Amino acid sequence: MIVPQATQTKNWSFRTDIEKIGWLTINTPSAPVNTLSREAIMELETLVSSFEEMAKSGELVGVVLLSGKDSGFIAGADISEFDAMSDFSVLPEALRRTHALFARIEALKIPVVAGIHGFCLGGGLELALACHYRIAVSDDKTRIGFPEVNLGIFPGFGGTGRSIRQAGPVDAMQIMLTGKMLRAGAARGLNLVDKLVRHRDMLRWEGRKAVLQKRKSSPAPFAKRVMAMGPARGYVVTKMRDQVRKKARPEHYPAPYALIDLFEAHGDDWQAMIRHEIDAFVPLMGSDTATNLRRVFFLSEGLKKQGIKGARFARVHVIGAGVMGGDIAAWCALRGMSVTLQDLDMDRIKPALERGKKLFKKRLKKKHEVDAAVMRLEADPTGKGVARADVIIEAVVERLDIKQSIFQGVEERLKPGAILATNTSSIELERIAEGLKDPARLIGLHFFNPVPQLPLVEVIRSKFNTDEEIGKGAAFALAIGKSPVVVKSAPGFLVNRVLMPYMLGAVERVERGESKELLDAAAVAFGMPMGPIELMDTVGLDVGKSVATELGHAVPEGSKFDGLVKDGKLGRKTGQGFYKWEDGKAQKGDVPAHDDLAALGRELVKPLVDTTEVVVKEGVVASDDHADIGVILGTGFAPFLGGPLKARKDGRA
Ligand code: NAD
Repeated sequence: MIVPQATQTKNWSFRTDIEKIGWLTINTPSAPVNTLSREAIMELETLVSSFEEMAKSGELVGVVLLSGKDSGFIAGADISEFDAMSDFSVLPEALRRTHALFARIEALKIPVVAGIHGFCLGGGLELALACHYRIAVSDDKTRIGFPEVNLGIFPGFGGTGRSIRQAGPVDAMQIMLTGKMLRAGAARGLNLVDKLVRHRDMLRWEGRKAVLQKRKSSPAPFAKRVMAMGPARGYVVTKMRDQVRKKARPEHYPAPYALIDLFEAHGDDWQAMIRHEIDAFVPLMGSDTATNLRRVFFLSEGLKKQGIKGARFARVHVIGAGVMGGDIAAWCALRGMSVTLQDLDMDRIKPALERGKKLFKKRLKKKHEVDAAVMRLEADPTGKGVARADVIIEAVVERLDIKQSIFQGVEERLKPGAILATNTSSIELERIAEGLKDPARLIGLHFFNPVPQLPLVEVIRSKFNTDEEIGKGAAFALAIGKSPVVVKSAPGFLVNRVLMPYMLGAVERVERGESKELLDAAAVAFGMPMGPIELMDTVGLDVGKSVATELGHAVPEGSKFDGLVKDGKLGRKTGQGFYKWEDGKAQKGDVPAHDDLAALGRELVKPLVDTTEVVVKEGVVASDDHADIGVILGTGFAPFLGGPLKARKDGRA
């Protein structure tokens, strides 16, 4: 008779059952998600040694690998170890050990089956790919992918070669180069997963069947593999380089280029790809880019720890259905909240509902989900939603008297504990709160345009607020999937305050006759996502002018800028600003020759960095870290530099 065996390590539990199937479960101690830490890898080495012996002696017929956490399978390697691991004296050896371990799993004579739910990312996917067969839960929560490129690296545990073996070169490279996360069905379509099940509790049953039937995944068919062979590979490589170049420069983000080089050399042989992976990977891990991207990752994760725990927001009421209010309302409905949207009349609300529907169709895959979101977003011209709302956001025209009277009217009808917020860009919160019985209730939730694309919400704190209101505001921003940065009520808050001197500095140079194309190209060469003149056109010259005026940088009468505003040439939205705009694209002339574009870019960005320093000194944001992440999220400031203050410390801005 077979005696079931059981082993428990810090990260893994293992037991065999009477059918001689081994059940291996990962459960990273004291962590919300599983990660493949060094410790977990070392423990797995010992476990795999015993699998090898038990397989030989016939005590084990197969292994099913599962996660013990609700959050998912394995979220990746342990990023908190990456700084220490960047040391060239430890990294190659550590990678070689993991490579050897995964190769031993692959070489086991018994089937090893991965049962996947929730996040299966990075190193987690690499481990799953070293198993012989993969089963995944096909619900909304499963996410499969290689996000490494966002951290300045690429898969380093053999995932480059194994993903190519499974998905074929084009699809595998695509997911590694973009960092895109796939749902279970899409991963099945790419052959990264072999079987889908509907519920997590079916993983055990299917895993058992896969072991007993000795199932083994097949590699990608020849029709896919051929794209890495002979001249086809050269063609694919050129296409990939072109695609990557549109998004990132090699001097800023070397990882995708290094991955393409590796593919160019070995893409037709997945095992050779794995053999050469470590050499290509090691220099990336310790690069400034990777170090700074890790910093950005941890700062963003830090933002998620803010906010009052356990706060629940089911109903949102938005007042003002214009550009901002309409989009804020639709965004909240998209994220599952019931939303009432108020404006002066139905005609002003309708366009916002239409825009919302477009957003739902774009973001939600299934018709019933779109229909449900449409139902959640309700026109409410009389404001009946106020009394039931957990959150009230005002986004009407930027006029103090109107905002004050709205809040005074609303205060009486509020639910106890509801958040009361304004989206004002420039009016001091203390003034809007004048006349309220309890001015401490009013906070700022400053969204950015376009709301669906921009992740930052500045949570504005007035002198009346307590941690309670601010904590709730941050919790709400997190609940709708945005990143909250707490900022004191001061003109321009954080983002507009630092952006304005940068944009106006560039505008002044254009007024003096410098080429706008050159200035924009220089800022991009420095690492900004878009140049300052193109950005001004995108924001809208009218908006830019009024924010500039509020911040004490009046636009001179008779200047080109002033003339454009007077002529109604307001930028992208009117088809003409500093640039002519067609199909949402600025029509740019040639960039004049310049011997050091990046240095010119650095000169342009200097006022932004200087102002960030001032803002921290004034206590508008709590710390350098908050300023850096806020400016990155709010302006797109070069993430590979780790934020404006980090860049200055490093002598790079
Ligand atoms: P908008 O002009 O597009 O919309 C304002 C809406 O408020 C209009 O639909 C108007 O009918 C409505 N309104 C006016 N008085 C009202 C009342 N008494 N009751 C109900 N609705 C009323 O303006 P917007 O660009 O959406 O800006 C709204 C707010 O958001 C402003 O405070 C602005 O400073 C701020 N903001 C704007 C941006 C931006 O880029 N546009 C970015 C961040 C914050």
